[in-house]
Order: sequence, then C-alpha cells, then structure tokens
Amino acid sequence: MRVDFNVPLDNSRNVQDDTRIRRAIPTIKALLKGGASVVLMSHLGRPKGISEEFSLKHIVAHLEGLLGSPIQFASDCVGDNALDVTQNLKPGEIALLENLRFHEEEKSGDEFFAGQLAENGDLYINDAFGTAHRNHASTAVIARFFPEDKAFGKLLDGEISALSKVMTAPARPLLAIIGGAKVSSKLTVLENMVEKVDKLMIGGGMAYTFILAKGGKVGDSLVEKEMVERAKAVLEQAAISSTEILLPEDSVCADQFSGDANFVICNSDEIKEGWMGLDIGPKACEKFAAAVKESKTILWNGPMGVFEFEACSNGTFTVASALKDATKMGAYTLVGGGDSVAAINACGLADDVSYVSTGGGAMLEYLEGKTLPGIEAILD
Ligand code: AMP
Repeated sequence: MRVDFNVPLDNSRNVQDDTRIRRAIPTIKALLKGGASVVLMSHLGRPKGISEEFSLKHIVAHLEGLLGSPIQFASDCVGDNALDVTQNLKPGEIALLENLRFHEEEKSGDEFFAGQLAENGDLYINDAFGTAHRNHASTAVIARFFPEDKAFGKLLDGEISALSKVMTAPARPLLAIIGGAKVSSKLTVLENMVEKVDKLMIGGGMAYTFILAKGGKVGDSLVEKEMVERAKAVLEQAAISSTEILLPEDSVCADQFSGDANFVICNSDEIKEGWMGLDIGPKACEKFAAAVKESKTILWNGPMGVFEFEACSNGTFTVASALKDATKMGAYTLVGGGDSVAAINACGLADDVSYVSTGGGAMLEYLEGKTLPGIEAILD
C-alpha cells in the first residue's frame, strides 16, 4: 500500500503534524480487518541518497501509537532486507518499508525498481493523493505488475469523489476562491476554472497582479509582471463566459513585510509606493463573505492574506468562517492546498467544511484539468 507519510518532523525527529498518517489509518484498518497483512511504503522529504535524517524509522513509534499494533520496519524498500520482512508477515501484521526516495529509481519511475517493489505484496493499493500527480515507481509504474489486483484506498477514493463533486455537475452557483502568493503557480488553474465556475474570487498576493492588469496602482505589493498579460486574458475570458470575478476592493496595507509594520486600509487599486497589500480589507471581507454564503459549491485554495501575521489574518479567517456558515446552510465546501489547510486549521474550522484535501500539487493539477498518473494507473 502506497501511503503519503511525508510528514514534518521536528529537530528531535518527532512527528510534528500527523494529519497525513491519520488519514491513511482507515484503509490500513480495513485491510487488516479483511485478513490482509499490510506492507506500507512512502517517501519522506527530498533526500539525496540514503540519509539518517530522512529515515522513515522516525515515524514507527508514532504509527504504532495510532494503530495500536507493532510495526515491523524494513531497512530498505527492495531486495533481501525488504523481502525478509514482507514475505514473513502473517495476516494482521504490518510492515513499513524504508524511504522510497533513498533510491533514485523511485522518482525516475524505473520499471525494474517498480517490479522489485511489487515483490513485496500480492495486491497494490494506492492511498497517497499527495503524490498522485507524480509518475513515480511506487505511485504509477508499479500498478502494471498488478493488472487485476489494484485499487484506490479510502483516502484517495474520498479525494477523487470530493474533487469530482466540484468539477463534474456541481450544485450551482459554483464559486472558486483562489489565493496565496504566486499567480504563476495557479494561473493554469485559473485559466481552466474561469469558464467552469459562476464566480471566481481572487485574493492573497496574487490579486495584485490582476489589479495591475486592470490598470490599478498597487505600490510595492507582490506582483508578477510577466504574468500580467495572462491575467488580462483570464479577465477577458471571464467576460466572455459571464463569470463574475471578485477582486478585493480594499486592502490592509503595510509599510514593510512584517507583523510589526504600520498598517493602513486603502483601496486596492490606489496603493502608494512604499506600501504593500498584505490582506483583503474590511469592504472586501464583507463582499467575499456574502458571495461565499450565496454559493452552493465552493472550492478554496490559498489564503486571502499573510495570515501568519495576526494583523493580516482577518481576511482568511473571515472567508473560513463564511465557509463554515455556507456548509451549515447545505453548500458543499472543499478546502485544499498546503497553506489553505494550515489556514483552516489555524482557524479551528477544519471540521466545519465538507472536505479538506491532503494534496496540494496533486489537487492543483487535477483542477488544471490534467490527468494524474497515480489515478490513471489504477483506472487503466
Ligand atoms: P501559496 O503557497 O501560493 O498558496 O501561498 C501561500 C502564502 O501566500 C502564505 O504563506 C501567505 O503568507 C502568502 N500571502 C498571502 N497573501 C499575501 C500577500 N498579499 N502578499 C504576500 N504574500 C501573501
């Protein structure tokens, strides 16, 4: 079973946030209940070759605590060190293989290596949404060795149905809220979504590239000048497909990128030199919250401001609590992407939306309309 145990560790190598591990537990338990022995494989971080720092042995104790069962750890994911453990597992027993990325063949999608991995099991389950957009040995290529015996785990299955609720015949009005820092990383999503949604709300740092594209003055706000033309094209496409674009009317502006800066509220298209927009302003908050509450399906990716600074967190928190209200009123609300998940957790509202996705890059690629190799390999 391919899982995504790529979790943050602190300096003493303790698990800092176990969300991803916890999300894999239902599938593991279902397999054990069904009489299987379970071999877990994952990557951790971006090691260059074998390194103690990125060993998955650091998460064994934590995983044992969550499962309430002992875990047998194999010091390699292929070869005798792996097979000695995996071939001797009894039903109900669990093994964890060492970090897949200790072998460069994992990322290159090497077929021989995928075949070696496949020797560890009789069936293949993919439950790692976070890497479903990668054509790696353990996420896609390995599926070829299990033509009849492959399946999605409960987590990946849940992710796919959550995303298809938004992308295939959603209840309308459909609203996409896209925020965060970089337009360039989300422009393809915006280009793909603009024709599909009824409303597109753009907040966070990326809003200023759009405000600049409309001829506004954005002072020292974050902009990607080379993206201005594509931003203009998104705005033109929105007009053609009658999609309402919501940009923040006003902003919380700071005289430096710091939580201790001086702050003023100003119109987002009249920001003076020396000042930068770090959050959506009060008028924008009101308008954005109203639009959220009027929608029946809502997708949210990316914070509305630098929510890590308390003075700039109001926009993100306002949108998060509007999402909670919309969910209560029957809307389907999907939150995804690393920072929006951190933001919704910081607001304590993660349990108040319909679904929180575990995959940042994978979710964005799905929303860009791309086929994800990890999903395709199972469906094939
Ligand atoms: P992303 O990874 O693109 O979703 O960006 C998330 C980051 O965007 C967060 O760390 C925020 O602090 C940052 N961010 C949000 N709004 C702004 C802004 N107005 N200016 C600069 N950074 C921002």
